[in-house]
Amino acid sequence: MPQFQAPLRDHLFCLFELLDFEGHTKLPGFEGLSRDVVEAVLGQSARFCADVVYPLNRSADEEGVHFDRGRVTTPQGFRQAYARLVEGGWPALTAAPEHGGQGMPHMVNFLFEEMLNSACLSFGLFPGLTRGAYVLLNDHGNAEQKALHGPKLASGEWSGSMCLTEAHCGTDLGLLKTQAVPQPDGSFALTGTKIFISAGEHDLTPNIIYFVLARLPDAPKGSKGISLFLVPKVLVNQDGSLGARNAISCGAVEQKMGIHGCPTCVMNLDGALGWLVGEAHQGLKAMFSMMNTERIAVGIHGLAIAGASYQNAVAYARERAQGRAPSGPRDAGKPADPIIVHPDVRRMLLTQRALTEGCRMLALWTAQALDVSERHPDAAVRKRADDVVALMTPVVKAFLTDCGSEVANLGVQVLGGHGFIRANGQEQHVRDVRITQIYEGTNGIQSMDLLGRKILHLNLFGSFSGPVTAYVESREADDRLAEFIAPLAAAHDLLEDATHVIRERAAAHPEETGAAAVDYMRLFALTSLAYLWARAAEVAAPKGNDDFYRAKLATARFFMQRILPDTAALHAKIVAGASSVMELDEAMF
Ligand SMILES: Cc1cc2nc3c(=O)[nH]c(=O)nc-3n(C[C@H](O)[C@H](O)[C@H](O)COP(=O)(O)OP(=O)(O)OC[C@H]3O[C@@H](n4cnc5c(N)ncnc54)[C@H](O)[C@@H]3O)c2cc1C
Repeated sequence: MPQFQAPLRDHLFCLFELLDFEGHTKLPGFEGLSRDVVEAVLGQSARFCADVVYPLNRSADEEGVHFDRGRVTTPQGFRQAYARLVEGGWPALTAAPEHGGQGMPHMVNFLFEEMLNSACLSFGLFPGLTRGAYVLLNDHGNAEQKALHGPKLASGEWSGSMCLTEAHCGTDLGLLKTQAVPQPDGSFALTGTKIFISAGEHDLTPNIIYFVLARLPDAPKGSKGISLFLVPKVLVNQDGSLGARNAISCGAVEQKMGIHGCPTCVMNLDGALGWLVGEAHQGLKAMFSMMNTERIAVGIHGLAIAGASYQNAVAYARERAQGRAPSGPRDAGKPADPIIVHPDVRRMLLTQRALTEGCRMLALWTAQALDVSERHPDAAVRKRADDVVALMTPVVKAFLTDCGSEVANLGVQVLGGHGFIRANGQEQHVRDVRITQIYEGTNGIQSMDLLGRKILHLNLFGSFSGPVTAYVESREADDRLAEFIAPLAAAHDLLEDATHVIRERAAAHPEETGAAAVDYMRLFALTSLAYLWARAAEVAAPKGNDDFYRAKLATARFFMQRILPDTAALHAKIVAGASSVMELDEAMF
C-alpha cells in the first residue's frame, strides 16, 4: 500500500546543519524562533499532513470534482480537511502579524508546503494559490483593499485565485482581451472569459478573491496595456460582511490528466465588479508578485511529488522479492531476494533520492535568500539576496518540476507493472506532477527567463557564480573533500564557458538563446545541486558511523559520479548551436 511520512530528519538537516538556520533567526522578526519551536511546528505539520490530508489523496483522484450548473463541489473530505487547515493556522504561517499571521520564515513554510503537497497535491493547491493572492495584495493593494481582504486571505477563510489565461492567450499575455470599463463610483465592470482557472469555483470558502488581468478602454496594445483588478466572488461590504453575488461565474470545469481534486475552471465575467490594484496599465508587473510566489510554490510541488514517489518506491523495493543479488543470495532460505539488491533498481532509487534531496536543498537555499531579501536591515545585503531570488526562481520552478516528473516516472519503473496499475499510487504521481512543468509559465519559458533575461540581460550570473567560486577556492586544498569539489569545479567551468559562448553569439544570432535555453537550465541546475551536495558532504563527512550521515555522503557521491557528468553532454549540446534546430523549413516538419 502507498504510504507517506514527512522526511523530517532531512528537513532538520537542511535547516540546522546545512543552512545555519540559527544564524537566520537573527533577522528582524525571527528572534525567538528556537530549534525547539521549529521542530514543534514541523512535527505538528507532519502529523496534520499524514493524518488529515494524505488519506484524501487517492479518493480525491478517483472521485474528482463535481460540476452542476455553475456550482463546483470538491471531493469528499476536502471541506472538513480545509476547515482544519484554517483552524490550525497553517495558511497564515508566513503572513504578517498585523493580518493575524505568524510571520514565520519562508524556509519553514517551504517545508510545510512540501509536506502538504506530498500528502495531496490537489488539496495543497487551494492554500497555495491563496498565499500567492495574499502576497500580491500585500505588495500592490491600497490600504482599504488590504484592510478588507488581507486578514481573510491570510487565514484562508477566503481563498484566492489568479485569472490570466484566455482561450487565445496563454504564454503571450499581451494578447488578452478581457475588458474593464470604469464606473462612476471608481469601480470597474469586467467582461470576458478566462480559461484554465485553478480553484476558480469551489465549496471550501464562502468567498473567493480573483486577481484578474484585463484591459482598460484606452489601453495600449500588447503587454503594456494590461491592468490588474481585484474581483470578489461575493461583494464585500465596507464593514467586511458579505453582500451580493458578483457577476463572475464558472461555465465549466475541465476533464484532465491529474490533480483531479482541484477544479480547473472556465470563468465568465459578465460585467463583474472589480477594483484596480496598483497603477493602470502596470498590471503585468504587479501580477509578478503572485506569479513569482506561485513559481517557487510550483517548484515545491515538483519536489513534493518526487519525495512521495521515492518513499513509496523504497518501501516496495524492500518487500518485493524477484531474482537473486548478482553477488549471491541474500537469504538462501527464501526463494528470491528483495529487488533492492539489484544494481539497476538501486540506480533508480538513488537517482530519485539524489534529485529529491538535492532539490530540497536548492529550494531551501532560495528560501533563505528570500527571507534575507525581505528582512535584512542592510539594503545592500537585501539587494544581493534579491538578485539570488530573481536568478533562482525560474530554476526552482523548472528544474524541481522536471525532477518531479523524472523521479515520479522512475517511481513507476521501480514497481514494474505494479507501478502502472492504480492501486499502488505511483501512476497518480506521474499524472499529478505533469502539469507543474506546464503552468505558471512552461519550463521552456522559465529557461528563457533564466538565460535571456536573468543572465544575458540582467547580468545576474555572478549571484550564483560568486558564492560557488569562493566555496571552491576555499576548499580545493582539502584532500578529504576532493571527490566533491573537483567535479563541482569542473561543472562550474562548463557552465561559465556555456554562458560565455551564448553571450558571444546571442546578439548576432537571435535564435541561439531559445535553442540553448532548456539545456542551459539543466546545466545551471545540476551545477547548483553539485554546490549544495558538496556542502552537504562536507557536513556529513566528519560525523562517523551514523546511518543518516553515511547515507548523505553516499548519495552525494552518487550524485557526483552518476548524475553530474550529464553536464558535459549538456555543454556539448549548447555549444553545438542553433543551426541544426533551425535548419528544417516549417513545411518540412
Ligand atoms: C490544469 C491547469 C491549471 C491552470 N491554472 C491556471 C490558473 O489558475 N490561472 C491562469 O491564469 N492560468 C492557468 N493555467 C494556464 C497555464 O498557465 C497555461 O496553460 C500556460 O501558461 C501555457 O499556456 P498555453 O497552455 O496557452 O500554451 P501556449 O502558450 O500556447 O504554449 C504552447 C507551447 O509553445 C511554447 N511557447 C509559447 N510561446 C513561446 C515563445 N515565445 N517562445 C518559445 N516557446 C513558446 C510553450 O512553451 C509551449 O510548449 C492552467 C493550466 C492548466 C492546464
